[in-house]
Amino acid sequence: MIRINRPLLSAELDVRTKQLNGEIGAAADRVRHARGLWRRAQPRQSLRDLLLDAAPGISRCMYCGDNQGTDIDHHEPLSRNPLRTFDWLNHLLACSFCNSHGKGDQFPVDGRGQSLLIDPTVDDPADHLALALSVGEYRPRTDKGHHTIAVLRLNRAVLVEGRQQARRVIELALPGWHDAMRLGDPRRMNECLLTIRMQPFAEVITAMLLAAVQPGAEVVFRHDPRLLRILLEPRLRASLLN
Ligand SMILES: [Zn+2]
Repeated sequence: MIRINRPLLSAELDVRTKQLNGEIGAAADRVRHARGLWRRAQPRQSLRDLLLDAAPGISRCMYCGDNQGTDIDHHEPLSRNPLRTFDWLNHLLACSFCNSHGKGDQFPVDGRGQSLLIDPTVDDPADHLALALSVGEYRPRTDKGHHTIAVLRLNRAVLVEGRQQARRVIELALPGWHDAMRLGDPRRMNECLLTIRMQPFAEVITAMLLAAVQPGAEVVFRHDPRLLRILLEPRLRASLLN
């Protein structure tokens, strides 16, 4: 999971979504009304298009970073707070596993009612989750990280293996980028960057770039000191950290 920049709604969409939330607020059975409106309301496709543009890689799920993001997830579930059904700040792009099978209606909160589920458009996931690069597993840094791993099952085998594979691809692409830079070949450099950017699990390159500037980097990358030198290249960091 990586930090996502949420785009602004157009003025028209902003007004329409607020109207729809107002309609739900006036209904006798808010949850039922919200479900019906959500199914048939026209702005849903426009909202989804905005989320697709903001998603990492090729429209990847904002939670697992692996599968195609197909659904608009209500971060705070509709069943818990129907008044946020059309609240743009409550919408994330998720795959059907994360939206339905993983998260579903779960929404853990602390004793003060504050969410214990990472919202990547609000939180920096790296504050709550540490990615152990050597094994591809997440370790919690905070209570919020702990609950997020559990609810979304972020350490299930297919994701752990996928992150290991993503790291292997990056370790092949980065020397190619570095060689192309030395040879003054911008087209090849761009191809190597695209290979990294467009693959699933955007959190892996983010974690590698972060680990490269932290104490103990020489230990993390002791298997490949050249890789560490490349990860520290300002030009690479400027291209991939945005
Ligand atoms: Zn997912």
